[in-house]
Amino acid sequence: KLYNQVQDLKGSIRVYCRVRPFLSGRPNFVNTVDSIEDGTITVNIPSKNGKGRRSFNFNKIFGPSSSQVEVFSDMQPLIRSVLDGFNVCIFAYGQTGSGKTYTMTGPKEITENSQGVNYRALSDLFLTADQRKDTFHYDVSVQMIEIYNEQVRDLLVTNGTNKRLEIRSNSNKGMSVPDASLVPVSSTIDVIELMNLGQRNRTVGATAINDRSSRSHTCLTVHVEGRDLTSGTLLRGCMHLVDLAGSERVDKSEATGDRLKEAQHINKSLSALGDVIASLAQKNQHVPYRNSKLTQLLQDSLGGQAKTLMFVHISPEADSIGETVSTLKFAERVA
Ligand code: ADP
Ligand code: MG
Repeated sequence: KLYNQVQDLKGSIRVYCRVRPFLSGRPNFVNTVDSIEDGTITVNIPSKNGKGRRSFNFNKIFGPSSSQVEVFSDMQPLIRSVLDGFNVCIFAYGQTGSGKTYTMTGPKEITENSQGVNYRALSDLFLTADQRKDTFHYDVSVQMIEIYNEQVRDLLVTNGTNKRLEIRSNSNKGMSVPDASLVPVSSTIDVIELMNLGQRNRTVGATAINDRSSRSHTCLTVHVEGRDLTSGTLLRGCMHLVDLAGSERVDKSEATGDRLKEAQHINKSLSALGDVIASLAQKNQHVPYRNSKLTQLLQDSLGGQAKTLMFVHISPEADSIGETVSTLKFAERVA
């Protein structure tokens, strides 16, 4: 029995890696990535005696020319399992500028081709739910929250209130943040409107602190309730789609005041996340969910029967090698 549980657990964590292409305007930079072959990425690491190399293995690696469609189609079965009552957690990890938001949401000006995982996931849920409509009735609703300095904020408010929200671990309906707006959605258009609202609410907060988005975690949570039309049985699934704060180390000698506080909070929550995933991957008895708001929020979707996808992002430029290696090492702990 235990053996089976352990097998389930292991199968439920996957790690993908995506390398962003060179950005226009920085065409002459040296490429850090030596090669990408199936599940192995090799990076060049400058060292005292010339050039060093190191390889890392992941379940899947997307090179710089991979499209949003390709990336999504690999995640599609995982996302669809929410309709079968599974809890799913997908999070984007990496230094600021490595492409996390691009993967989850898209570029600044989003076209149909460049839509990220969030839009595609919801469109696909609607499509699949519609295909099953003779046997199942599905209700889909979403929440969107931000965690900044260990405080949780609702991003789907229309009145600009900025109430601090609590995370509950054993709440009804598996709702981690019961007081955050829960908005029923039934079409991709609904979702686009909500994401725009969430985006605007993020920007409001960003006036005081420049580019706050890179220093907060944003989580789009999709709640699905399915009713089997013949038996009346209810299925509940929940999916967290998380765009994490930038993982870069802040130079302690330079950061002061608010910037230092932010950096410490980010450090704490990302290492808490790493510890949780690593202890799940190592099948530890005790999983330290309580150490950060982020891991409390995701608790129901990490471990147990839940399916987790850690999607790490790296920048190809040689001047990012330090962060690239620490990102790859972070991911290697669980891969
Ligand atoms: P992050 O969210 O990790 O800080 P972004 O997603 O904002 O990084 O990406 C930084 C810049 O690179 C943005 O201008 C984004 O549009 C661009 N970019 C990132 N990934 C890709 C990609 N795979 N293809 C094309 N442009 C990308
Ligand atoms: Mg971003």
